[in-house]
Amino acid sequence: MWPYFRPYKKTMIVAVFASIVTASTNGSLAVAVKYIMDGIFLEKREDLLTFVPIAIIGIYLVKSVFLFLQNYLMAYVGNKVIEKIRNESFSKLMHLPLSFYSDKTTGELMSRITNDINLVQLSIPTFITIFRAILTMIGLISVVIYMNWKLALMAIICYPVFIMPLKIVSTKLRKYGTRGQETMADMNSTLQEAFSGIRIVKAFTCEDKEYNKFKYVNAETIKYYNKGVFAGNLIAPLMEAVGSFGIAAILFFGGYQVVNGYMTPGDFFAFLAAVVQIYEPVKLIGISNTGIQQSITASERIFSILNTKNPILENNGTMPCNAHGKNIEFKNVTFSYNDKVNALNNISFKVKAGSTIAFVGPSGAGKSTMANLMPRFYDVSEGEITIDNINIKEFDVFSLRKNMATVSQDAFLFNDTIKNNIAYGNPNASMEDIIRVAKAAYAHDFIEQLDNQYNTVCGERGAKLSGGQKQRITIARALLQDAPILILDEATSALDTESERVVQKALDNLMKGRTSFIIAHRLSTILNADMIVVFSEGKIEAMGKHEDILKTSPTYKKLYNMQFNNEGHNVSFEEEKN
Ligand code: ATP
Repeated sequence: MWPYFRPYKKTMIVAVFASIVTASTNGSLAVAVKYIMDGIFLEKREDLLTFVPIAIIGIYLVKSVFLFLQNYLMAYVGNKVIEKIRNESFSKLMHLPLSFYSDKTTGELMSRITNDINLVQLSIPTFITIFRAILTMIGLISVVIYMNWKLALMAIICYPVFIMPLKIVSTKLRKYGTRGQETMADMNSTLQEAFSGIRIVKAFTCEDKEYNKFKYVNAETIKYYNKGVFAGNLIAPLMEAVGSFGIAAILFFGGYQVVNGYMTPGDFFAFLAAVVQIYEPVKLIGISNTGIQQSITASERIFSILNTKNPILENNGTMPCNAHGKNIEFKNVTFSYNDKVNALNNISFKVKAGSTIAFVGPSGAGKSTMANLMPRFYDVSEGEITIDNINIKEFDVFSLRKNMATVSQDAFLFNDTIKNNIAYGNPNASMEDIIRVAKAAYAHDFIEQLDNQYNTVCGERGAKLSGGQKQRITIARALLQDAPILILDEATSALDTESERVVQKALDNLMKGRTSFIIAHRLSTILNADMIVVFSEGKIEAMGKHEDILKTSPTYKKLYNMQFNNEGHNVSFEEEKN
């Protein structure tokens, strides 16, 4: 954590100074009690009658100013540190490879950035409170030892007993804190899924099912929070109960010394005032413990993200990539998502610059995995992918990805204007360029008919547009990227025939002059490809032109017959399976 605080060293020194001043005022107040008792009440000194009240006002004024300074400065530093941690966590998450996301839910990750970081944020001022409490304790203990060391020893002996309940409760608190935050993450995941899947929820009339799921995680979260509240609130009463023994002992032995003339009433009350004040910081430390324990578990989770290894960026190449006019080759590529089953086995083929390659095969054969490997969303387990004989790992990964444009079945749009969605990867694009690509993507006409044309906001995930419209905007976005390599992952499979026809025309414009990899279930879209690669169970069954593989690949032949001998009805592998 220290590197995060280092830039605020000077501010923290002022805050620490302020807390030393604040802490020392407590000792002064105890000493004032002696003058009130002995000087004013017993000796009846009138001069003290004005001096002591003014001194008390002075002490409280100093205390208030420095207490404010200390609290404000520490909270300010804490908030700035949190801002940095939050930024770094988000940046880290944005850069982590896709493999990191495959076993995480969106809600869980959102919980890390919001709830967990909030907990740490709330606890930062607590640390300085504890620091001040420790200083106050040291100051007051020195005062009581100075006043009457024998009596002081008696009071101090009670403190270790104080610590015991603290230790027991801390362990419990940490356990409940962890579980509470985990269930909170589950709650976020449930919410996120229910909201993003609201159409399906309604279509299957599963509102109550989702409600029950939510009710369960909500109850779990509250269960652990309440357990935490139970343990956390035990601390203060336990400490007070133990403390009462100390106070009683002081009253008994101190009272005895006053009665027998070994101590003045002023000394006794000053001593008592100091001891009572010592119990306060100890109690404060105990109470603050709840927040601290929660923040420790929360920060462990945040730092587990910040310390996650990023194999892609850690092995990032340095060469800038320019794939224009370059050949691509897959050389003995084998890949596994989980080190157990290979999704791809020993894949080798060459692609000439500017040609169109189609990947076909049954579901789960490995087609999308091929598309994941080229932009290094995942790294190959064995073999290599090269651009002009240079392993893609030699290139800077960001530069490599700028050479590839992807259009996938899931036409994802941000909740922003159409203009900004088209210019997503090229924020400096001119309006003329945006309109040019929109026209080439057959999107311009429908955009012009919208209420705010290019300034129309698309809605979450493009909810205000039809499937075909969304897809044409993503094609315009890919066109604007002007990348030499194009990856079309089932770009038309979610569309009806009419939309598909328009989108296909847009895609034809997009593919001109680029090396295109097309994944398609519908063969009609890939019959003219320069090379068709047929995948079956992670291996290449055949590759070549349509006419050739029709003779050599049983999988392809079956697919072709199924789709074209069926009186023109285009059926996909998916439909065949059902
Ligand atoms: P479809 O046509 O249905 O999209 P596909 O040919 O594109 O299928 P892939 O998505 O490449 O198939 O999947 C190949 C294999 O890898 C499948 O067995 C799949 O279960 C597995 N797989 C895909 N993605 C992951 C992942 N993120 N983690 C683990 N296994 C995965």
